Amino acid sequence: MQQVDILIIGSGIAGLTYALKTANHFPDKSIVICTKADEIESNTKYAQGGIATVMNFEKDSFEKHIVDTLIAGDGHCDPEVVSLVVKEAPERISELIAWGTRFDKNTQGEYDYGLEGGHSHERILHYKDFTGLEIEQKLLKQIHNKQNIQLFTKHFALDLITTPVTKKCKGAYVLDVEKNAIIAFNAKVVMLASGGSGQAYLYTTNPAIATGDGIAMAHRAKANIKDMQFVQFHPTALYYDGFNPAFLISEAVRGFGAILRNKFGVAFMHKYDTRKELAPRDIVTRAIHEEMQETKSECVYLDATHLDAYEFRKHFPVITDTLESIGIDPQIDFIPVIPAAHYLCGGIAVNQHSETSISYLLACGECSCTGLHGANRLASNSLLEALVFAHRGYLKTVELLNNSISDPINYTYTRNKTVKNITTELEVVKKEIQEIMSKKVSIIRSNESLEKAESRLLYLQRVVDLFDKSYQTTPKLNEIRNLLTVALLITQQSIKQNENKGAYYNISLC
Ligand SMILES: Cc1cc2nc3c(=O)[nH]c(=O)nc-3n(C[C@H](O)[C@H](O)[C@H](O)COP(=O)(O)OP(=O)(O)OC[C@H]3O[C@@H](n4cnc5c(N)ncnc54)[C@H](O)[C@@H]3O)c2cc1C
Repeated sequence: MQQVDILIIGSGIAGLTYALKTANHFPDKSIVICTKADEIESNTKYAQGGIATVMNFEKDSFEKHIVDTLIAGDGHCDPEVVSLVVKEAPERISELIAWGTRFDKNTQGEYDYGLEGGHSHERILHYKDFTGLEIEQKLLKQIHNKQNIQLFTKHFALDLITTPVTKKCKGAYVLDVEKNAIIAFNAKVVMLASGGSGQAYLYTTNPAIATGDGIAMAHRAKANIKDMQFVQFHPTALYYDGFNPAFLISEAVRGFGAILRNKFGVAFMHKYDTRKELAPRDIVTRAIHEEMQETKSECVYLDATHLDAYEFRKHFPVITDTLESIGIDPQIDFIPVIPAAHYLCGGIAVNQHSETSISYLLACGECSCTGLHGANRLASNSLLEALVFAHRGYLKTVELLNNSISDPINYTYTRNKTVKNITTELEVVKKEIQEIMSKKVSIIRSNESLEKAESRLLYLQRVVDLFDKSYQTTPKLNEIRNLLTVALLITQQSIKQNENKGAYYNISLC
């Protein structure tokens, strides 16, 4: 048992921002961040395009960013949340800059705002094409300088500790992977910042850590989980077998002028939407899917051959180097791309103060559902949402800690003693979950495909429950259990969705 004031699960942009803010406010409180892999491994690290914000009011406005977000969300956003996120953005981003984050500037020394799909104006702050890595590194540097933050890597959160009757969160059980020991952290406030769940699909831009652990833990603790049917597929992941996760060709490349072409070299987006390549992601993804079916091809192509070579490399050095490493020269060759699972719009339901339906349990970042994204996230709004709701969660924490009384617990985690290596069996189950989700709960769904998926996932759940009852817990066993929970939530909430909206498309409803 370890007593702490604040326990944070996850070390991406959401967890680190919240940690820094609370540590600055409460120099005498103990703050622990548990993260299951290395400190830097996160979806945040892979973010390329940047952060959307309106800071140039001559040509752009908050109203335009709000309208763009609402349109992309297809009528399912919470307009109040959209407004507050857009309006708080400049302040939150100036904090990131004060913590050392760099964003590209033009030759006049002004920010070089990028353009992405669904945005009516250039408003994406970026650092080359590795904005997420830049943010993550600068946040970690700040965290390392804080005396009152302890960051434990290879510490895998297994389950939340909640009181049975009052539904109050009291901490979490965490597996210290290297010592193979379970720690019960007793905390006054718990922040879940555990990221997304792209690993539920075969082809995803999300790294291996994205198994929806926080959402599954919150679900087991009976927190409200919503909008899971809205899984966003990014239209343009590189079509190439050798990268896992799939390598993203940022939306900013289309914002820069690249054109989508089918296997005959014909541009096709004008057939699907007047905004062509810069329509919101759900529309571009479905257009690519349809075009691939019509032309019986395994991918489509991004054509950047007409773009200025020097400027392209300057803006997209990682993309250019990666393509060249596999023999694709974007100046000469078309880039093969296909849609890949990218972002979960739904998650743990939170209010405007990052509070979940369980008291003293907060959530922010991709594991949460704030109402900002509605049925389809607008590009580059997700890092922004994490910043805004980390801040709001911090303000709520100040209130909660000022009113909290010390209330230690004495729970114990009963751990099965039987150790058995079931890695191969678990890999087989993971592959099957990914295949079911990719075939039946994907870009285009049907009532029949959803029902079949649910029934097989329920069977797999019984198998994994049996593993869980029989053998000692491992990170892998837990990840598969969590992935199954998330896959079922996506499928079952899809079955309840009776209208096609944003990223959700069911042919039986047409
Ligand atoms: C390739 C790619 C490009 C993207 N580009 C952009 C972009 O340009 N702009 C934009 O706005 N968004 C972008 N996104 C989305 C954005 O990066 C994420 O939504 C955002 O970074 C999520 O931040 P987070 O802090 O919520 O989660 P993450 O950054 O994923 O962090 C989650 C953390 O939780 C930890 N964790 C998970 N489970 C456990 C557990 N059981 N125990 C302990 N720790 C755990 C993980 O190890 C990790 O440290 C992109 C995403 C990807 C994958």
